[in-house]
Amino acid sequence: MNIHEYQAKEVLRKYGVTTLKGKVAHSPEEAAAAAKEIGGALWVVKAQIHAGGRGKGGGVKIARTTEEVRELAKKMIGMTLVTHQTGPEGKKVQKVFIEQGCDIAKEYYVACLVDRVTGRVAMMASSEGGVEIEEVAAHRPEAIKKVDIDPVVGLMPFQARQLAFQIGMTPDVVNQAVKFFIGLYEAFVKSDCSIAEINPLVVTKEGKVIALDAKMNFDSNALFRHPEILELRDLNEEEPTEIEASKYDLAFIKLDGSIGCLVNGAGLAMATLDIIKLHGESPANFLDVGAVPTKKRSLRPLKSF
Ligand code: ADP
Ligand code: MG
Repeated sequence: MNIHEYQAKEVLRKYGVTTLKGKVAHSPEEAAAAAKEIGGALWVVKAQIHAGGRGKGGGVKIARTTEEVRELAKKMIGMTLVTHQTGPEGKKVQKVFIEQGCDIAKEYYVACLVDRVTGRVAMMASSEGGVEIEEVAAHRPEAIKKVDIDPVVGLMPFQARQLAFQIGMTPDVVNQAVKFFIGLYEAFVKSDCSIAEINPLVVTKEGKVIALDAKMNFDSNALFRHPEILELRDLNEEEPTEIEASKYDLAFIKLDGSIGCLVNGAGLAMATLDIIKLHGESPANFLDVGAVPTKKRSLRPLKSF
């Protein structure tokens, strides 16, 4: 399950990860009022959709007056934002996040994820922040540093320090970075995330280490023990057919092809998609009704999809 940037920042703050002052707004008036409340002379208006790449798509804009905040919010709310992560149809912006603006000295990347090869949580960081990590991985893989974390002791301060130095942070900000990385790891583990990504983490001109963006994805199999996170779910952001499928406990992903698939078992479902592709066609969906499908689970998708 995905949540919005402003929600992820609320979660991270509880673990000591530093963020700027910000407030979510659903209308231009709320946006202007939020800017007034936040104070200062520089704000950033950020479209809240479950996809990255908003900056390039026109979903992150700087404002210097509260009037400008209002204008930008007016333009952004209701617009369809297209980014490399939304697909060509884009996503409708329902709300914006008004955040204090800051003077960036340097942008970095840091993320916590599950490494399936080691079977452990890993932290990845890079000096190349603010750009797509896939691009960095493709062109400058040596710029991505990684530490494997022992689940018994967690992320050790020396590992966090090493990572900070490896990505070129200077000694004056390393202690802040260590606290940041450990906070990020704690948030990841305690909330059963599948990914927690900060891109960019910035060092400001005043020497502060701050999360400027935040993406958190949660393992849906563990959500039963996090009612407070389940509350953050935004059904507006989810595919209606996928919401319907989740009510019946079906693993369903909508795809853009034309051949419908109803398969028992995820492995067989993946193989079916591969075979369809191999023969030059495209699947319309991934649907796993479970290795031991019941009548109810199997008939439901036939009716709905
Ligand atoms: P996305 O990844 O969806 O494009 P980000 O939150 O990463 O959105 O914002 C894109 C860029 O906008 C950042 O890399 C950063 O340079 C700038 N930015 C975002 N928030 C702020 C802020 N509060 N103050 C100053 N610059 C910001
Ligand atoms: Mg970003």
